[in-house]
Amino acid sequence: MTVAIIGIGLIGGSLAITLKENGFAGHIIGIDASQENLDKAIRRRLIDVDLPLEEGVKKADLIILATPVDAMLTLLPQVLDLIEEQVIIDVGSTKAELLNAVDMHPKRGQYVATHPMAGTEFSGPEAAIPNLFDHKCAVLIDADRSAPEAVKLVRKMYESIPMTIVELDREAHDLHSAYVSHISHISSFALALTVLEKERDEGRIFELASGGFSSTVRLAKSSPNMWIPIFRQNRDHVLDVLDEHINQLARFRSLLIKKDFDTFYQLIAQANDIKRILR
Ligand code: NAP
Repeated sequence: MTVAIIGIGLIGGSLAITLKENGFAGHIIGIDASQENLDKAIRRRLIDVDLPLEEGVKKADLIILATPVDAMLTLLPQVLDLIEEQVIIDVGSTKAELLNAVDMHPKRGQYVATHPMAGTEFSGPEAAIPNLFDHKCAVLIDADRSAPEAVKLVRKMYESIPMTIVELDREAHDLHSAYVSHISHISSFALALTVLEKERDEGRIFELASGGFSSTVRLAKSSPNMWIPIFRQNRDHVLDVLDEHINQLARFRSLLIKKDFDTFYQLIAQANDIKRILR
């Protein structure tokens, strides 16, 4: 199987390592806007060869679109125009806008929308790692709009990693992603800004911020190039969950002002319930 990966960064590069290692892909073509990233990907042996978009797509059996979600809005219709029998998937974090853009495309059946739910706060081909996706969840979105043969191939790809597969429609996907992923990034960006504003002594942050602070603020290292397009496309759902988050912060604030530590205790005990779901 020849696989072309468009956008050979953290996600594209990590998929390249895994699919080559497990034998799903025999040959990997890299396509990227940045020649520097392609050169790094060749040096790291993430890809066998780099090619321009049109040539790479023509030579591939399966095409994986792994750029930031704004670039996908242009690239997906462009690739659908180029393909004949091949299958194309994307791995983007938002779906409604992208799917709406290609609903009527004559090659729509050969496209399968997917979201592998795994990542790190790092970007680019240097951030690609093996085993990133092992035993995590891959979401297939609006799979009933794709040709059954295309879905079968994509299921085979994710199962080879191995990942667990879940199916959702585009609205449910974007809503749940806002809840479980997008809000935690905003919360982490805000926490980093709060501490940078209050604690001007960077040496102190470094010395004292072991454990709790480092792990809570980890996501604040994530790239704005990837996140701004996600917040732009999923703005309404993110606003909804952000309003709820602000309400919760305001509750803690008001309890501190009132010195109502009994209610504060109860809220923490309620929050501990997350242990039942995420051990
Ligand atoms: P990344 O590490 O920044 O990789 C994206 C790659 O695409 C970079 O090499 C970038 O080059 C390249 N690129 C940008 N615009 C392009 C274009 N028009 N044509 C070709 N290549 C282009 O980002 P990532 O974290 O792998 O994310 C990739 C996708 O996966 C995003 O859609 C994201 O929503 C999704 N995703 C991310 C995570 C996560 O945790 N990171 C998890 C699941 C899904 P430059 O560096 O030069 O811009």
